[in-house]
Amino acid sequence: VFDRCSERRRDADWIAARLADPATRIVPVWRMRNLVTSETDPRAVYLSAAALGTIRASSPPIFLGVAGDVVYFAAAIDDADDALASRAWASAVESSTAGTFVELRPIAARLSAFDLAILAHARAMVWWHARHRFCGVCGAPTESREAGHVLACTRAECGAMHHPRTDPAVIVRIMHGDVCLLANQTTWMPEMYSTLAGFVEPGESLEEAVRREVMEEAGVRLTTIRYHSSQPWPYPSSQMIAFVAEAASRELRVDGDELRDARWFARDELKDAVARGEVRLPTAASVARRLVDEWLAG
Ligand SMILES: [Zn+2]
Repeated sequence: VFDRCSERRRDADWIAARLADPATRIVPVWRMRNLVTSETDPRAVYLSAAALGTIRASSPPIFLGVAGDVVYFAAAIDDADDALASRAWASAVESSTAGTFVELRPIAARLSAFDLAILAHARAMVWWHARHRFCGVCGAPTESREAGHVLACTRAECGAMHHPRTDPAVIVRIMHGDVCLLANQTTWMPEMYSTLAGFVEPGESLEEAVRREVMEEAGVRLTTIRYHSSQPWPYPSSQMIAFVAEAASRELRVDGDELRDARWFARDELKDAVARGEVRLPTAASVARRLVDEWLAG
């Protein structure tokens, strides 16, 4: 179990001691990529805290949390550093392999739940740091506080404190009796079908966002909306909040802008289409796939 130990973030002495502890593990992020053993059989590769002295970091280490007795920090390796330079500190890697920096999203389904959670957390924090180097209020540089969980404006007269944000997005499996609505987005391959999704706007409830998105994109009016589950989606900083809804009718009006096509599928019809390769479903690591699979499994 991973504990974020948020109460430790303000404890500068404890944080400094953990960073000096050889057992501490560092999760490096370079150009928004994570370090893993390989793309085909990925496991997270951690650096020892001693490696921090050899890394050209773009900000101080960010405290992630504790699992068992092991403390984890994220470290942002300067983007300007090149992959070859990484070999200089490869010897500090505690695993037998130096590993390779890869995009997280394509390998997410092949990672263990623990590795995925910790790599995603590190990536999301480093991404936030990279985009908040300057105060959004006055434009002065920011500096890292609370072990990387606050970015404070360095101009005393301003003093604004910036906190990491997550963008809520709703995703919904729409049912009408025993058929399920799946859609193809204009930006996808034509055979890819998934549940409908969209971002929540300021001042909007999650249920209102579900109703609005579904009406805008597919012209479907919903009767009931029930919460299903949620999933962090740090590409770059979303939280997917999943729902199951019932449509008032099977009438569709596809907008042609965000959606190329939307279709009601019966269970066997979808299974056959997938088996024939005519329809492709979203990646196994996604909440969209979980929504579809759950229905397919009956
Ligand atoms: Zn400021």
